[in-house]
Amino acid sequence: MSSRGAGTAAVIISPVTGKPRLVDPHHPHVGLEDQALTRGDGVFETLHVLDGDAYKFDAHHARLSASARSCDLPAPTAATCRAALAMALDAAGPGSQDPALGLGAEHSVKLSISRGAPGDAPWAWLTAAPVPDSTFAARRDGVSVVLLDRGHDPAEDSGLPWLLPGVKTLSYAVNVAALRHARAHGAQDAVFTASSDRRILEGATSSVVCARLAPGAPPTLVTPEPSRGVLPGTSQARIFDVARAHGWGVDHGPLHPGDLLRADAVWLTSSVRLAVPVTAVDGHPVSTDPQLTRTLTGFLVGRDIGHGTGGR
Ligand code: PLP
Repeated sequence: MSSRGAGTAAVIISPVTGKPRLVDPHHPHVGLEDQALTRGDGVFETLHVLDGDAYKFDAHHARLSASARSCDLPAPTAATCRAALAMALDAAGPGSQDPALGLGAEHSVKLSISRGAPGDAPWAWLTAAPVPDSTFAARRDGVSVVLLDRGHDPAEDSGLPWLLPGVKTLSYAVNVAALRHARAHGAQDAVFTASSDRRILEGATSSVVCARLAPGAPPTLVTPEPSRGVLPGTSQARIFDVARAHGWGVDHGPLHPGDLLRADAVWLTSSVRLAVPVTAVDGHPVSTDPQLTRTLTGFLVGRDIGHGTGGR
């Protein structure tokens, strides 16, 4: 066994009985004709687990079910997914610890549904692994991003269900190509913009959230409208729910590149990386606010994580 994937556990959910079954993650389980493999025909969710608790489970299961419905795929029930998750966490290596944030034991869990091989039933599987160090580094150091034209305005896709707008499909080749392009051009991440008006859409694998501060007033958080062709992020939604409950301003509205440069802080939010500060956009520095980053991270994981020992 190679050290790659050390600590990973895998569970297959039977398409027939719906029962989860622990399998060896280092052996192949996907047939060469499986349509998740040959066509990216499937849907998935990535969840963060902290000290054994998948604290946004319901939001992920709701989005998985909606994605599956859009693709005419069956989704395992919440009870089945929870049973598979518990089985995988039991078998996975210990969760890793973010040395700066000290949140607790962290796992990354990926739950996927595939169309299956032609003629076979759709099926699902789940993997659980300790969160990698590269994730902790991104949380600590932030990322520089490039803005990449999405090639069209995805808001126009919203009435065209066959284009799967807002669906978390396994077809992520474009998203990872955007990341490769960003890295080849000296940045660490990519943010898509709409071709029509350079509106900010979302990160390649994240939502975009920015903060505006005014003296004597609570912060205001702003994110692009989820109905305008972006994936509705469960992390962004959780941050906004908690911020609203704290009396902060929260707004969904068009953001343009200048808005990111003028913001008091900008983050890429996603389930495992949490709130990653953006340090530069197309080579222009962006303000960061380490305390606000910690506060948003606390909102996300449901804990007050105070001032801690690390961060920028
Ligand atoms: N947008 C895209 C394209 C993503 O791939 C992701 C996460 O993978 C997100 C947004 C953030 O979603 P969440 O916060 O639910 O992880």
